[in-house]
Amino acid sequence: MASVQRQPSTVNREPPTVNGFRDLIGQERAIRLLQRGIKAGRTAHAYLFAGPEGIGKRTAALALAQALNCQQGDAVDDGCGVCQSCRKITRGLHPDVQVLEPDGATLKIDQVRALGADVALRPYEGKRKVFILQCAEKMTEQAANALLKTLEEPPGWTVLVLLTSTPSALPLTIVSRCQTVIFSAISPDALQAYLVGRGIDHTHARLIVSCSGGSVGRALSPEIASMGSSRDLFLEELGRGLRDGPAALIDLAERLAKDRDRVGQNLEVLSAWLRDLMVVKVSGRREWLINQDRGEEVARQAEGLPLDDILDSLRVVHDTMNGLTRNANPRLSLEDLLFQLRATVSSGLVQVSA
Ligand SMILES: [Zn+2]
Repeated sequence: MASVQRQPSTVNREPPTVNGFRDLIGQERAIRLLQRGIKAGRTAHAYLFAGPEGIGKRTAALALAQALNCQQGDAVDDGCGVCQSCRKITRGLHPDVQVLEPDGATLKIDQVRALGADVALRPYEGKRKVFILQCAEKMTEQAANALLKTLEEPPGWTVLVLLTSTPSALPLTIVSRCQTVIFSAISPDALQAYLVGRGIDHTHARLIVSCSGGSVGRALSPEIASMGSSRDLFLEELGRGLRDGPAALIDLAERLAKDRDRVGQNLEVLSAWLRDLMVVKVSGRREWLINQDRGEEVARQAEGLPLDDILDSLRVVHDTMNGLTRNANPRLSLEDLLFQLRATVSSGLVQVSA
């Protein structure tokens, strides 16, 4: 075996906050599968946690590490969260639990080699060693080949956990050596209940849920937490642009396109608003609105707009979202969208800023 480092420099230890599996929401099936294995003493040597970003794959991997190393006993299927081992894992300080993140754009062969060397060593102080590979799909081909060697004959004390949002991007040879555990997007109801449980008021929680795509990580991000105010700002800008005419819309498209991170969020805001116009138009039920805090305004706008125009606009917004995920030019797509809105729902939306 090549030179062995006690703490490979490529291994990144970010302080997470994990309190066993009980912190996870909406992943009961995945957790049940993991806990059954732990309880029966039949943990897989390698897992592949697959599912969208921000829904708890990393938390679950750390919770698995806690359960395997908890000092409360040998037969526990969940970490206690309070023993020294659980706390060390929570703080990212346990020498037997390591998280590997891509070094830049890719997970590199050197990182995987360092991991392979460390895998060969007995646990330093815990019962099992757990290696967590974030964004496993970002492994280079050489890194994947190196990992394959580790996966072929892992020592009994090792558990590897590969995390990915795109399992199809991983070589089949790797996938076939892992037990795949599927993590699914969280249902809107479960996420809503979770947010309300954290003290977020009902109306605001609804708005956050509509814009977080079933991801707890996104729902708790600062951008989404300030959803109400960023929504108001965006709708106001939009209303002003529509009122001021074509030059203002071109200018607005340029500004919106520059903030790449927010483009998707602004489109979700717009989609939720148009969806509300449709809901109130066809049902009159304000309790079904996402933007309940602005229900009065939604109802007033819906009254002045034909249903077909609302539906057309909604379709255009969704087309724009799809286009952007396929790398359409943001500025041109937004220009196109804004001019189409101008032709359809402008008269209603202008009032947003009133
Ligand atoms: Zn513990």
